[in-house]
Amino acid sequence: MLLEGSCHCGAVRFTVESPHPFPFNVCYCSICRKTAGAGGSAINLSANYDSLQVQGEEHIRTYRAKIADPESGRVEESPAERKFCGNCGSALWLWDPRWPELMHPHASVIDTDLPIPPERTHLMLGSKPAWVKACVEDGDQTFDSYPAESIAEWHERLNLVK
Ligand SMILES: [Zn+2]
Ligand SMILES: [Zn+2]
Repeated sequence: MLLEGSCHCGAVRFTVESPHPFPFNVCYCSICRKTAGAGGSAINLSANYDSLQVQGEEHIRTYRAKIADPESGRVEESPAERKFCGNCGSALWLWDPRWPELMHPHASVIDTDLPIPPERTHLMLGSKPAWVKACVEDGDQTFDSYPAESIAEWHERLNLVK
């Protein structure tokens, strides 16, 4: 389905085609939490990068997270590019050169009515602070780190590819 998105101030607007638009993937990692999830988590979708059309591209800025290896403590800059509006700060999407055909919009900036997921995946719960309540319902999956099942595979398993 075609997704329409925008930042809060409206300087950036975009459309992108997504065969996998269900907002089921709730991430509690510190990057999502601090850049896009004031309630303690953020929801990432998956869409086709080659269909992305952007208005106001000049307002977009890029953040590359610095991630410390939990064992060695060595800090490396993630190749993933987190795009946000330089005017209002809305987190827009992630694009990763390791999977260049995909882009991952935050559900929070999508203006199109998204379909309601029949179950959710809660990931990176190992990074969740105690005060954040994960609203886990019957049928949801929970993971301390990343699940093996991709966003596309989740849609295929549940027969929900659009
Ligand atoms: Zn903005
Ligand atoms: Zn995350």
